[in-house]
Amino acid sequence: MTQAESGHFSSSDVAIIGAGPVGGALACRLAAHGKRVLLVDHAALPPMEHPDFDGRAYAIAADCKKLLEEAGLWENLPYPPCPILDIKVTDGKPGAPPSPLQLQFDHRQVGDEPFGWIIEARSLRIAINRRIHADNNILLLAPEQVSVVRRQESVTLRTPSGQTFAAQLVVAADGRSSRLREEAKIPVTRIPYRQSAVVCAIAHDKPHEGVALEHFLPGGPFAQLPMSGTDENPNISAIVFTDRPDLVERLKLLDNARFGAELSKRLGPHLGAIRPIGRRWTYPLSAMHAARYTAERLALVGDAAHGIHPIAGQGLNLGLRDAACLAALIDHAQDDHAQDLGAAELLSAYQAERRPANLAMLAATDILDRLFSTNQPLIRLARDLGLAAVNRMPRLKRRFMLTAMGK
Ligand SMILES: Cc1cc2nc3c(=O)[nH]c(=O)nc-3n(C[C@H](O)[C@H](O)[C@H](O)COP(=O)(O)OP(=O)(O)OC[C@H]3O[C@@H](n4cnc5c(N)ncnc54)[C@H](O)[C@@H]3O)c2cc1C
Repeated sequence: MTQAESGHFSSSDVAIIGAGPVGGALACRLAAHGKRVLLVDHAALPPMEHPDFDGRAYAIAADCKKLLEEAGLWENLPYPPCPILDIKVTDGKPGAPPSPLQLQFDHRQVGDEPFGWIIEARSLRIAINRRIHADNNILLLAPEQVSVVRRQESVTLRTPSGQTFAAQLVVAADGRSSRLREEAKIPVTRIPYRQSAVVCAIAHDKPHEGVALEHFLPGGPFAQLPMSGTDENPNISAIVFTDRPDLVERLKLLDNARFGAELSKRLGPHLGAIRPIGRRWTYPLSAMHAARYTAERLALVGDAAHGIHPIAGQGLNLGLRDAACLAALIDHAQDDHAQDLGAAELLSAYQAERRPANLAMLAATDILDRLFSTNQPLIRLARDLGLAAVNRMPRLKRRFMLTAMGK
C-alpha cells in the first residue's frame, strides 16, 4: 500500500511537481526540517534500483553540498564524490597543443576546501529515490499526474482517479518544459546555441590528481572533470564537450576506438591512453529564462525557471541554490508564525534573490561561449592574452574562485 492509499496525509505544507535532482533535493530538505511535502513525478522512481554506470556527472559547488547535507542526501550518496582541487583553463585547436597562455586555479589559494565535487548523476538519483520513499514527511505520488488549481486561499491537486490534496504552496520543479509554468502563462526567453553537447566518461592510464580541465576549442568548450575511480577503472573522468550539431551526430555513431581517438585529439596527452566507458549522451543546447519565477501560490525552481550553457557546469547548482533559498524562506515564515507558505511576500523575496543571480550566470556563460567558440585569430590572441593576464592577478583570480565555489 502506498502512503497515498493509506491516507497518510491529504493536506501538506508544500506540493512539489517534479522529483528530479532539484525537486527531489528540495523535498528532502523541507522534510528534514519537519515540513509535510507532497511530491509528484510522472516517472516511476524505484527506491532500490542500482542502474549501471552511465557516464553522466554533476559538478557540485561547495554551497550546494551544504544543501545536499541538510537534505540528508550527501552522506547517503552510494558512490563517493570526487573533490575538484585545481581547475585549468586552456585555449587550443583539436590535435594541436594548448596555447601556453593559460589560467590555473589552485584551491589552496582560497583555503583548504576543494572548489567543488564531481558526483555521478546516478549516485544522486539513488540517494534521492531512497530518501523520498523512506521519509514519513514526504507523500510520494509516482508515477502519477496531477491537475493543479491555484486559488487565493490554497492549492488543490487532483489525480485522475479522483484523490485530492491541498497545499499552501506548489513548486514547479518539472524541468525545462514545465507544464505548471505554461499553465501560469509565464513567458520564457530562449537563446538557441548552434551547438550540441556530448556527455560521456573515460578511463585513463594516468591519475587526474583532482584537476578539472576546461579546454576552449573553436567548435565549443571541452571539459574533463575528475571522477572517483572504481575497482575496475581506478582513473576515471567525465567529459562534456560541445560542437556543431552535425559533427556531434557523426561522433555519436563512431565505434569506441574511433570515438576515443576523437576525444584524445581534443583532450591532449596529459592523462595517457584513454578509453570511453559507459554510455554516450548527446543534447542539443539552448539557454532559457522565465520572465517571472512566481505566480499566485506558485514558485518555479531549477530548469523550470532557467537553463544555461553547460560551459561552466553550473546548471544544477543554480537549481540547488533556488531550492536552498526557498527552503530558508519557508523556515523563516514558520519561525515568524506568519505560517502562510504561499504568501505573496515570501514569493517576491524568493524571486528578488534568485532571478538576478541566475540571470547573471546565464549572461556570463553565454558571453564565455561566444568569446571562446570562435577561431578568429585576433579574438584568439586577445582571449589568450586575457587568460594569461588574469593568471597574474591574484585578487581577481581569488574572486573567480570564490564565485565558482558559491561564496
Ligand atoms: C549536456 C549537459 C551537461 C550538464 N552538466 C551539468 C553539470 O556538470 N553540473 C550541473 O550543475 N548541471 C549540469 N547540467 C544541467 C543539469 O542537468 C540540470 O540543470 C538539472 O538536471 C535540472 O534539474 P531539475 O530537477 O530542475 O530538472 P529535471 O532534471 O529536468 O527534472 C524534472 C523532473 O520533473 C519530472 N516531470 C516533468 N514534467 C512533469 C509533470 N508534468 N508532472 C510530474 N513530473 C514531471 C521529470 O520526470 C523529472 O523527474 C547539464 C545539462 C546538460 C544538458
